[in-house]
Amino acid sequence: MKNLNSPPDEDEIEISIFGPGYGESIVIHIGENNWIIVDSCIDAKTKRPVPLQYLEQIGVDPKTSVKLVVATHWHDDHIRGLSEIMNNCGSAVLSCSIAINTVDFYKLLFLLSNNSMMKNTGLDEFINIKEILQKRNPIWAIENKLLWKMDLRKSDQQCEVSSLSPSDLPFTYALTDFSKLIPKDKENKRYIPAITPNRASVVLWIKIGDFYVLLGADLQEEGNAKTGWSAIVTSTLRPTCKATFYKIPYHGSKNAHHIGVWTEMLDKNPISVLTPFSRGDTKLPTGTDIQRIRNLTENAYSTALPMQIKKTKRSHAVEKTINETVKKIEQNIISTGHVRLRKKSAMDIKVELFNDAVFLTNLVAIVLFMLVATFVVTTFTGDNQGLSGQPKHHAAATAAEKALASIFKRQIDSA
Ligand SMILES: [Zn+2]
Repeated sequence: MKNLNSPPDEDEIEISIFGPGYGESIVIHIGENNWIIVDSCIDAKTKRPVPLQYLEQIGVDPKTSVKLVVATHWHDDHIRGLSEIMNNCGSAVLSCSIAINTVDFYKLLFLLSNNSMMKNTGLDEFINIKEILQKRNPIWAIENKLLWKMDLRKSDQQCEVSSLSPSDLPFTYALTDFSKLIPKDKENKRYIPAITPNRASVVLWIKIGDFYVLLGADLQEEGNAKTGWSAIVTSTLRPTCKATFYKIPYHGSKNAHHIGVWTEMLDKNPISVLTPFSRGDTKLPTGTDIQRIRNLTENAYSTALPMQIKKTKRSHAVEKTINETVKKIEQNIISTGHVRLRKKSAMDIKVELFNDAVFLTNLVAIVLFMLVATFVVTTFTGDNQGLSGQPKHHAAATAAEKALASIFKRQIDSA
């Protein structure tokens, strides 16, 4: 029987991936009460950094137990709460992409730091992080660099954390990207456009004994051998063993997919976890992304229900009902989804799902249900003849919500 609040055993590896629908964070127990935190997100209910909240919940003192904190890139869905984490993990080594250690990036932060339009963009968080980094002497991550290692005395195992990116060319590009963003004289830059693709993202390769983990951050693929995933896959310097656990990059988007990762860097059917991204019109992964991932592994999970359901041509009224239903569900999803792997031995690996986390296979049932709901609404409201009846719509929407809620409940209970 699973217990969210119990810590892993001393010799038990844990990888917890958190994602509340916006944001992402990874917490790893490498053994003997030594922990790593990668990125941070905020719990929508408590407004606290999720990794700290979780460690407290399972009785782990972050001050002494967290040994490494990595910021993979500076987008605000990955760094919210990170300065608080760094402050609370006094004995941890900090690591960041080398791309932010540039004159232009610091200049950009300085120029924009007084701009009230920049609130909530992650910039204010990054200014705090920058100050901490300056005091704490961070390790700058670049391709094929061993960032940190530790000998686990009792088990006689070693843990090594290496960065596989950014490679040299994206690093050079990042320099140009940042310099372009610096406002020219008298130009009032009101916002920083997102730098896409996330060229300077830090992809991590973690070895714990003979267990290998690939954390894809938000690194994208550009079809250029010297950038993105192509640079990693074709590198002759990268590790040649295969990972059992994969944090799927960039919220499952096709822009971050490289088949070589699956064929050359991962075991067969790797345990693969994504965090969905839902903000404004951008919703990842799409239905096609989910299908692609399901074709590549039988062990795919998401920390929350992906909100993008494949668009089919529907009438306006049906579309409206579905949108309202989805929006209500979206509003109800405020708890932080959590996929947790715990491994005692090669034969004893378990994956547990908490809150809104889903096993992606079950999504088929949800998508099918949405199609049936569409059919019900269309048929019983006479919508296709333009005779839509408002009360019936609401009844259908409520029924759809109830049924979806029961699917979620079953999903959670069976986890
Ligand atoms: Zn992201």
